[in-house]
Amino acid sequence: MPVYEFFCRKCQEPFTENMSIKEHDERTPKCPRNHEAKEVEKRISSVHTVTTKKSLTY
Ligand SMILES: [Zn+2]
Repeated sequence: MPVYEFFCRKCQEPFTENMSIKEHDERTPKCPRNHEAKEVEKRISSVHTVTTKKSLTY
C-alpha cells in the first residue's frame, strides 16, 4: 500500500498515511492531532511522483 504525504495547515506540519490509491482519490484523512480534513492538504511524495512520471513517459 502506498504511503501518502499530507500537510496540516493547523499544525503547520507534514504527516504520512498509508492508504490505497482509491482511498486517496476519495478522501483526505484527518491529521494525527485530529484536525479536520479540510485543514489538510494532499502532498504527492516526490518518490511516487518521479516513479509515475517515468512509467508514463516510457
Ligand atoms: Zn493538525
